[in-house]
Amino acid sequence: MTKLETAIRNLVIANRILANEGVVDAYGHVSIRHPDNPEHYLLSRSRSPGLVEAGDIMEFDFDGRTVGGDKRPPYLERFIHGGIYSRRPEINAVIHSHADDVLPFSISLTTRMRPVVHTAGCMGAHIPVWDIRDKFGDTNLLVTNTEQGRDLAGTLAANNVVLMSAHGFAAAGRSLLEAVRISVYLPKNARVYMGALRLGEVRVLSPGEIEHKMVKNPEAPEMWRAWEYWAKRAGCGDLLDIPAWARKD
Ligand SMILES: [Zn+2]
Repeated sequence: MTKLETAIRNLVIANRILANEGVVDAYGHVSIRHPDNPEHYLLSRSRSPGLVEAGDIMEFDFDGRTVGGDKRPPYLERFIHGGIYSRRPEINAVIHSHADDVLPFSISLTTRMRPVVHTAGCMGAHIPVWDIRDKFGDTNLLVTNTEQGRDLAGTLAANNVVLMSAHGFAAAGRSLLEAVRISVYLPKNARVYMGALRLGEVRVLSPGEIEHKMVKNPEAPEMWRAWEYWAKRAGCGDLLDIPAWARKD
């Protein structure tokens, strides 16, 4: 299997996982940087993530143009992905979600998203909020051109997650496993944080605790453990590319 075929198969798994874990629904998407051309990325045609198959994957440049004359309808918000890849060469996977549990923290003017549970330490200490209205005025709130995608990436800066006001979030990972992990635990963290805020003052993770939880190796066995579990739960365990160390034979 070529690197491209493996990448596409993993991208299909990521789509199914994010749908099954409730991170995305009919909308939202996940991409990976092209393994053979770092100036391009791979992303499904406009299709709900839970339904994505290998044949749906398209190739784009950083300005959201399709490669190879592919005429199928792409996602309107693909510019999120190109904006982040063009600014962050170490990033290899990007996820965009409208997860409800995260939204309150995208519109609150007083309470910022903070990691409060250990599994969410991977999202990093600072989660900036990007409001499209600040630079682009009244829009439909969707990221529909290169300039908006790059402005969003500018607010993400060197962080792992950026919230998008009244809209959702974008997460960036050095690997697909890392991006999926961040995106699965971000809404869980938001639910716990919201519940705790009702009780009064909240203990949040300290910078030192977050540093301990930042993923040192995005391909480590503990990352694979979750990936395998989520993939099997999503019904696509047959697509898993099991690493040599995890094989029984
Ligand atoms: Zn969106």
